[in-house]
Formats: sequence, C-alpha cells, structure tokens
Amino acid sequence: MTTTTSQSSALTAELRDAATAALGRIGAELPEAPAEGGLTVSSPLSGEPMVTLPEATAADVEAAVARAHEAFLTWRSVPAPVRGRVVKRLGELLTEHKADLAGLVTIEAGKITSEALGEVQEMIDVCDLAVGLSRSLGGRTMPSERPGHRLMEQWHPLGVVGVISAFNFPVAVWSWNTAVALVCGDTVVWKPSEATPLSALASNALLRRALTEAGFPAEVSTVVVGGRAAGEALVADRRVALLSATGSERMGQQVAPVVAARGGRYLLELGGNNAAVVAPSADLDLAVRGIVFAAAGTAGQRCTTMRRLIVHSSIVDDVVARLVRAYEGLPVGDPRAEGTLVGPLIDTGSAEKMRASLEEAVADGGTVVVGGDRVEVDGAPGAAYVHPAIVRMPRQTDVVRRETFAPILYVMTYETLDEAIAMHNDVPQGLSSSIFTLDAREAETFLSEAGSDCGIVNVNIGTSGAEIGGAFGGEKSTGGGRESGSDAWKQYMRRATNTVNYSTELPLAQGVNFG
Ligand code: NAD
Repeated sequence: MTTTTSQSSALTAELRDAATAALGRIGAELPEAPAEGGLTVSSPLSGEPMVTLPEATAADVEAAVARAHEAFLTWRSVPAPVRGRVVKRLGELLTEHKADLAGLVTIEAGKITSEALGEVQEMIDVCDLAVGLSRSLGGRTMPSERPGHRLMEQWHPLGVVGVISAFNFPVAVWSWNTAVALVCGDTVVWKPSEATPLSALASNALLRRALTEAGFPAEVSTVVVGGRAAGEALVADRRVALLSATGSERMGQQVAPVVAARGGRYLLELGGNNAAVVAPSADLDLAVRGIVFAAAGTAGQRCTTMRRLIVHSSIVDDVVARLVRAYEGLPVGDPRAEGTLVGPLIDTGSAEKMRASLEEAVADGGTVVVGGDRVEVDGAPGAAYVHPAIVRMPRQTDVVRRETFAPILYVMTYETLDEAIAMHNDVPQGLSSSIFTLDAREAETFLSEAGSDCGIVNVNIGTSGAEIGGAFGGEKSTGGGRESGSDAWKQYMRRATNTVNYSTELPLAQGVNFG
C-alpha cells in the first residue's frame, strides 16, 4: 500500500512538473494556490490532485465581463482585417507551442499524444479560417421596390461572447468560438471546464501575447477559472451578448432558459448519441477501421463518439467478430506512451457510470461481447482506465438512448433501411451520424430529408473527427448550435438592415399614401 502511494505520488509530481514547465515555456504563470479553498485540479493519468488554483467568485466574473465590455468598445472599431492579423499571430504562436499545449491537454484531459496534437492543430486550422473570414465577412444588397433607394444589410460586432467549455475538448472549442468571435469584433470571457484550467490559461496567454504585441488590450480575451458557480455568473450577466456553451444536455437545459429570460443569445453544443448504419454492401475493412476509431478513440469521450451501431442482420456476426478482434488488440494505458490508443477516463465517477450502464444493458437483455472491465496501470491506482466495450442489444432500450460518456458501443440489427433510419433517429440527441454502404441509393436516402436527423451526416467515414471548414453542431437535445466553419460566424454578429434614400422623393413601401 505504502509503495503504491509513493509510486502514484511520484507520477503526480512528474505530471505537475511537466505541466509547470510547459506553462513556463508558453509564457503562462501557474497561479499561486490560495491560502484556503480554491479549485483542485487532478490529472486523469494518476487520478490524484495535482494543483490547486484560485477560483473565480461571481464578483470576479462580473469584473471580467465589465473589462471585456470596455475592451469591446474599442475592439469593435478595429478594421476586421487588422483583427484578423491578431488571429493569424495566434495561429503562429499555437504552431510554435503545439507540443507544449498538447502536452497540457494530455495531462489534464487524458488524450493520447496524437489526438492532443490533433486538437491543437484544429485550433491552428480555425485561426486560418478566421483570418480568411476577416477579409470576406459581408452582407447582401437586395433590390428595393422604391426608386432611388438602396436596401442592404450590414453585419456588426455583437459584444461580449461568453464561452463555457467541456473537459473533453479543453482548448479547441474555445478556439472555434474565439478565433471567429475576434474577427467579428467581439471580445471573449471563457469559463473552461473545472477539470482543465491549465490548458485554458496557456491558450489564453498565447492570445494575450498576440493582442499586446499588436498594441491591443489583453482584456479582449479573459479566462475565469472556476466551476459551475462561475459558469452561472457568466450565463446570468446581461452584458454577455452571446453565451456559447458546450457540455452535457443537462447543462444546456439549465443554461438556455436563463439566457433566454434576459433576452440574450445562446449557442449550445451538447451531448450526442451518435450511430452508424452498416449496410450489406459496406466495405467492411474500411467500416471496421472507421467504427473502432469513432467508438474507442478518445476513450469514448468525444461528443461525436460512436455509441450505437445498427447493422444489417445478414452481416452482423461478421461485423461483431471483426470488431471484437480489433478491440482485443487495443492498447490501453498511459496516453503519453507511444503505441497507446486508449487513455484514461476523466475520473473514477465516469468509470462508475460506465459500469452502471453496462449492468443496465445486461438487465435489458444485452450481452457484453468484449471489454467493459477496469485496467490497472502501474503507479496510478486512482486513475480510471477501462477496456472499451461492445454490447449486443436485442433492441434500443433506455440505456442505449442515453449518452454514457465512456467507450460503450451498443450493436443492434435491422432488416430494411427504413427500419434502420427509424431506429437511428429514435434518440433525444441529434449530433453526428454515418452510413457505411457502397449503394448510392442507400447513401442518398440517409443524406436526404427522410434520412438521418443529425447536424452531421457522413458516408463511409465514422461519426467523429469533423473538419473546421463545415459548420459543427447538432439538432434536438444536442442544442441546435453551429460553430466554426461555413456561415457559423453570423451567430457572432448582429445584422442591421439599412435602407438609403438617394432620391428627391419620399415614396413609402407597399404603396402607402400618407397625405
Ligand atoms: P458538463 O456539462 O458537466 O460541463 C460543461 C461545462 O459547463 C463546464 O465548464 C461546467 O463547469 C459548466 N456548467 C455545468 N453546469 C452549469 C450551469 N448550470 N451553468 C453554467 N455552467 C455550467 O460536461 P463535461 O462533463 O465537461 O463534458 C462532457 C459533455 O459535453 C458530454 O455530454 C459531451 O457530449 C458534451 N460535449 C459536446 C460537444 C458538442 O460540440 N456538441 C463538444 C464537447 C463535449
């Protein structure tokens, strides 16, 4: 017992040293622990407390929003292409510090190195997208029914954007919001997950460097470290013009009515319950590779993780046998180690929820065909490592229709495509979906209005791993928000419709005659 404790403490000390060194190279200071209280941050690699940080009070959040609002009053009038240059510089700094920031993501969120580097790359990519936007944001001109009149729309900066993010994308979600919000002329106050404040402080330090180098106030972007109470203060603040919140469906249900009641805007990115349909014509080698990455990657802790597999009954035994072989070879362990494909769950509470869901599935008639057990990792007895699980289900029961944020893939069967699509859509969430098929009719049906009801619909790739060029988000209880690419920028701006009369007459619209 004593040996285990000292070994695990050695791991925690190593992680704390690595995090402190990475923060130092990035130019972000590790705040001093408060004399009492504060926010204790654990690493999922050891499952032990790693650092304690000062926690923002409601008054601190209020003050941060006040400063962000003050900064907005000047930032909004900086030309968009000049704002874009700051975002370009952020992209350069992220590129320079990619390994350090990814290292922090691994230490705090438990992502394997390759996925953590991918998350930082996504930040760099969205900076590129936003720089392009900074020279192309534009409104339309419409024909006026009145002679000598011009009818057009302009897009103006919105104000302070509040960002609340989840632990599983501790930095990318902020960048999707912030890179776009900044070129749109908004300022940002970010309340990161209480589990991942260090990578947040590091990311914001890079942006603040880019801002101050260019002579702009650092308050254009602020981080408030705290838990739910700090989030609630941000949500309630009337000066937060747009509240962009990423997290569980429960959180979205709490946040949305508060923002709506004060007349604010919200953008919600909430839980998913993503499925793939596997048709008889599918290329099974490709399908199995896509399914394993989407279902077991990130230890099942992506909003887009594949949680349900709806397979044609004629091929289900073959598909499950192939998946079981792949799952049996999945290396689970320290996410920093080369070759590891599955890191830890965020905490033991998640492992407990996984166990409870598996028990419920079995009680519903399901059979666990592989995985589901805890994995002991040397020197980390407090961590929550698990073998990803596959469960064959006789039908889609309640547990299948809920999001359990852990690597469980439920397999059901279908006979007709209509039946598969009905089962696919029969869940509260609507984030991501895919079909594996080589039949064009099946693919197009799945993509059609009568097909998947999700915000993301793929053919012959898994449900996870979206690119930033498209708008990202989902329907139904996933919240309806869209972030990053396409025209998602419109949510970060306000539209003004302008009519200009350059004639000598004053004709009224709709032919109205007023004296
Ligand atoms: P969570 O809901 O527990 O917490 C998310 C964030 O919300 C945290 O910063 C938390 O402090 C804050 N929060 C919680 N309750 C709040 C309240 N009442 N008011 C204000 N803030 C509040 O989620 P989590 O466990 O960190 O993340 C996992 C969840 O996030 C999963 O459901 C996952 O699907 C979802 N997620 C969705 C997306 C997406 O884009 N759709 C992306 C990533 C994660």
